[in-house]
Amino acid sequence: MLVLSLTACASTLGALTAGPRRVLATMGGPAALDVAELIGSTRARLESLAAELGRPPARLVAVSKTKSPELLMQAYAAGQRDFGENYVNEIVAKAPLLPADIRWRFIGALQSNKAKQLVLGVPGLCCVETVDRLKVAKALDAAVQLSPRSATKLSVMLQVNTSGEESKSGCVPSEAAALALEIARTCAHLDVVGVMTIGAPRPALSANEPDPDFATLAACRSQVAAALCADAHGGGGGQQQPEAALALERRLELSMGMSADWERAIRQGSTSVRIGSAIFGARA
Ligand SMILES: *Cc1c(COP(=O)(O)O)cnc(C)c1O
Repeated sequence: MLVLSLTACASTLGALTAGPRRVLATMGGPAALDVAELIGSTRARLESLAAELGRPPARLVAVSKTKSPELLMQAYAAGQRDFGENYVNEIVAKAPLLPADIRWRFIGALQSNKAKQLVLGVPGLCCVETVDRLKVAKALDAAVQLSPRSATKLSVMLQVNTSGEESKSGCVPSEAAALALEIARTCAHLDVVGVMTIGAPRPALSANEPDPDFATLAACRSQVAAALCADAHGGGGGQQQPEAALALERRLELSMGMSADWERAIRQGSTSVRIGSAIFGARA
């Protein structure tokens, strides 16, 4: 089965246009890791941590940017279905080579002029985690509207620049609630399902010390929930509003935690961790 799929991968590879083929040809890097085993051990740690915290296990997103379709198939064969990619050209080249039941998550910087290519090129696109301005949301909304999937809303997360570093994308934390509100009001084909951040590297933090950027993201989620809820209730007070806001907050996701810091992120409430190098090895 796996061999067949890989053969299918190889033959479809030839049908790619020059651009994506160049992308794929440079993929791989120093591999020779047992991807299946790393998926299994990561999953086991996710589950034991969840049991310790009395919560459902967080989603494991395998971040596969720059990695070959063959390597992704190794993860797939180990049961992995959620994959994260960063580049539009790369995800549209890879997605058709891989099984249709993969749930693709876009986690890279997105320009509004690439939204259509992303939505139309990846039928299995399940979430765009990196919406940080209304222009990008509107471009995605328009792309979904003209796509075959227009009856199903596209899930999006707001990327928040919690560390304030210039190198990081994302809206300012204090603007997340207003952005969520604008998207909810103007983008009928999008569903705001959570907030996402990268955060600054914190090598000095000990294992159980909280990361201030993750705390900022959790606070943003509360603000987003309160704003969306107030809007849904016509802005009027109402007894049930704090409760409704809390219920919404519990449904909104926190996408935070990568190879170096995902355990800490989960202790701080992450519902979705994005793990690349710890599964697929270092990127070339
Ligand atoms: C590359 C990337 C990851 C994965 O990083 P690792 O350190 O390799 O786990 C996670 N999230 C985003 C947004 C990324 O760009």
